[in-house]
Amino acid sequence: APQIVWLRRDLRLADQPAFHDAAQAGPVIPVYVLDDDAPGDHAIGGAARWWLHQSLDSLSRDLGKHRSRIVLRRGDAASELIQLAKEVGAQCVHAIRHYEPWWRAAQRKVAGEVNLVLHDGNYLLPAGAVTTGSGDPYKIYTPFSKAVLDEMPPREPLPAPDTISLPERWPDSDDLADWGLLPSKPDWAGGMRAFWQVGEAAAHDRLEEWSGMVADYDDGRNLPSIDGSSRLSPHLHWGEISPAQVWHRLHGRRGQGWATFAKEIIWRDYAQNVIAQFPDYPRKSYRDGYGDLWRSRKPARNDLQTWQRGMTGYPVVDAGMRQLWQTGWMHNRVRMITASFLVKHLLIDWREGERWFWDCLVDADYGNNGVNWQWISGTGVDSNMFPRIMAPLTQSEKFDAGDYIREFVPELSSLPDEVIHDPPDDQRGDYPPKMIGHKEARERALSAYRKSRG
Ligand code: FAD
Repeated sequence: APQIVWLRRDLRLADQPAFHDAAQAGPVIPVYVLDDDAPGDHAIGGAARWWLHQSLDSLSRDLGKHRSRIVLRRGDAASELIQLAKEVGAQCVHAIRHYEPWWRAAQRKVAGEVNLVLHDGNYLLPAGAVTTGSGDPYKIYTPFSKAVLDEMPPREPLPAPDTISLPERWPDSDDLADWGLLPSKPDWAGGMRAFWQVGEAAAHDRLEEWSGMVADYDDGRNLPSIDGSSRLSPHLHWGEISPAQVWHRLHGRRGQGWATFAKEIIWRDYAQNVIAQFPDYPRKSYRDGYGDLWRSRKPARNDLQTWQRGMTGYPVVDAGMRQLWQTGWMHNRVRMITASFLVKHLLIDWREGERWFWDCLVDADYGNNGVNWQWISGTGVDSNMFPRIMAPLTQSEKFDAGDYIREFVPELSSLPDEVIHDPPDDQRGDYPPKMIGHKEARERALSAYRKSRG
């Protein structure tokens, strides 16, 4: 009897335990269901849809080498799966476990009707695998990361299946091109096409390249002007590569670069561990007393747009917001600077930023995005970062963002390092003035914060 492999954010063949076990058990029918209803306000965003299209296309081509394919369906994922399993008389549905609340609900629904086997494999450890001394899940990153490190290395990655046997008859499938995942008019994806290679093979190419660079990560990761971080985030998000594969490829590399990098990979597990405990974490603040901190929606509306368009008058903030728009990705240091600017300099609710990033990032991730936004805002279950207000101009200089600004803010491309972080009025040309002074914004934020604390 055929085995169904239910694909979601696990679009790879190697170290894909659902695929591995299904291929050993019988003919395989890989299925992807595009479900835009179950996730509610977190349906896959614009840039991520572009990535998804390329990634499904790439996996289809890899499966084509085995004369296999992906069956594409659209609608309520759980109902589609159940119906398909019954239609083809599947013995079993294999899937990698996911922790987003809509996927957990779908997993429960499918398991109620058909034989669903859930595998772990998109994280170093399953959520809940490490606990505090009293047996509770961790809420704070540092003790969590120590506990995870104690369990490392992760299990050896599985090979891709040698052979994939085919079903006697393929069920009907949608056409990927009909899903409209790619932008049509205007075509805003040119910058993304130029910046990214999508798919499992591309993820491994980048990992190979990165294995020669990770030694410099400790210094390089903070410098937006250079290629100093792995840029594996969309590949990891879409599951084109597994963290166990990344770990085993790199952990022989000695030195501080690898040690720091390993901690970032663990941040990803941490975020998953948080949403497993608090499923609506990306949707609501967890620390009390923040209700009246943010400015009301109406007067903040224009400021939000100015930030989204990268027209704040702070070069490093604008470079980041424009990098995001053009490439679907933003450097981590600059994600922190732009996020802090929105919630502190502009006093806008972090959820507006979370939404914008969700729509614009190719690596938009329910856990990572929500956890990082709440961390910057100080509204989450971990330490309170609100009073630590980042100074964008100082950050820009300290982390040498000159070339980065020249690349993404063409109005300033001819300015030298000495002035580019904070150009004087007569050298700004068409570039807008600062929407609010740093000192004034800082005082406004701290005073609003004190008031909200009563
Ligand atoms: P590297 O520095 O090479 O790190 C390696 C991997 O570790 C990353 O690919 C990522 O999977 C993981 N990682 C690194 N930093 C973090 C972190 N702080 N939290 C969780 N995982 C991390 N990351 C996302 O994958 N999706 C998001 O939607 C997302 N939203 C963010 C929003 C804000 C406001 C901030 C401050 C950070 C956000 N991050 C998000 C985390 C981080 O910025 C990106 O993972 C990183 O910039 C991706 O680039 P990289 O692959 O070169 O990272």
